[in-house]
This record gives sequence, structure tokens and C-alpha cells, in this order.
Amino acid sequence: MRHLVLFDIDGTLLWGGPAKEAFHLALLEVFGTAGDIESHDFSGKTDPQIARELLEGAGLPSGTVDHGLPSLFRAYLRELEARLPDDPVTVLPGVPELLDVLGAMEDVALGLVTGNIAGGAELKLGSARLGERFAIGGFGSDSELRDDLPPVALERARTRWAVDFAPDRVWIVGDTPRDVACAQAHGLRTLAVATGRFDADALRATGADRVVDHLGDTDAIVEVLVP
Ligand SMILES: [Mg+2]
Repeated sequence: MRHLVLFDIDGTLLWGGPAKEAFHLALLEVFGTAGDIESHDFSGKTDPQIARELLEGAGLPSGTVDHGLPSLFRAYLRELEARLPDDPVTVLPGVPELLDVLGAMEDVALGLVTGNIAGGAELKLGSARLGERFAIGGFGSDSELRDDLPPVALERARTRWAVDFAPDRVWIVGDTPRDVACAQAHGLRTLAVATGRFDADALRATGADRVVDHLGDTDAIVEVLVP
């Protein structure tokens, strides 16, 4: 095992689904407000970071937010699980094929770096039938700061495969400037994909190593990630 590819979830592997609605309902249930959720920028942020920004923006003290977060995420997972069967996520074009090819390569390990809490990632990927693809990850439940997540994923990868992956053989694949920044903070490589809210020009401006419009050209993407 020499190469490690760490995928973001929303906007990168899949889109849609009931997560925002579930989050909204859980915020109302536990805190009595969802703050300015309709106009809030979620992109590339962790779930606890989004919750904190919404709730502190609505005037709640940080201690109140801290105290309620475990209840919030229990309610969120309950609502998400209840809604996914009728409002499933959509897998982005080329993703299953890319994961098939990478997953079959003997020296490639696959993982996640996502702002989703681990339980949310599991539910969304399960809904997309991608749940078995990723042995390890760094999640929003590990830290509120996305920049903290790559080292968490790397440590789990080290434990899982007993390999110290060289930083230039670790790629982070994501759809937002925050995905690129969290990789750059640790000297990792970055493939930015314009299937989320940011177009290719906006992603190029982040200094990502590679930018693609989508993950649909399997051979070209594999050539980038496993040269
Ligand atoms: Mg994303």
C-alpha cells in the first residue's frame, strides 16, 4: 500500500438528499432556532462548525451550544435516517466506476475527509451504496475545524494499513476551497472537482494541484491520483 486517496462526500461523491432538512429540524427541536439556515454558507464546513455558526449567530452563548451539540447530532441522525429512503442522495457521474478501479488497485487505499459527522457520512454513503468503499476517515465529529481532519485520517490509515504514507502520495479529492486548504495545510496533494457550488476557475484560484469539471473520465482521474 503506497497511495492514499481521501474523498470529500457532498458535492464530490454525491449530492442532494435530506441532510439540510434533517439538520434544520434537529436544530429547531434541540435549540428552538435554526438561525439563518436558509442563507448560510455550508460549503466545505464541518457539521459542528455549521451548527455553531448558526446558533451563535442567533445569539446563543457558546456554552449552550456546546452543551446541546450531542443532542443535536442524535436528533439529526434520527431525522436523516428517517428521510433518506424517500429522498435518497444522488451519486455523481463516474464515481462508482472510479471507486471500482481505485479499489481494485493493490497499492491504493481509500478513505474520507469530510465535514460530515461519522454517523451522517455512514448514512449518506449507505444510501448511495458506497458504504463499503472507505475503511477509514476524518470526520466532522473528530474536529470542528476541517484543517484538523487530514491528520486524523492519516493516523487511522497508518493504523489500518501499517503504512506511513508519503505526503506526496496522499490526495484529497474535494469540491470546495476548504477541501484544498485542509490538504495544503499538511502538504498533501489536491484534486478539486467542480461538481459542487464552485466552478473550475474558482477552484483553480485555490492553487489546487489539479482541477477537473467532474470525475467522469475514470482513466484520466486514475492517472492523476496514481501516477
Ligand atoms: Mg463537499
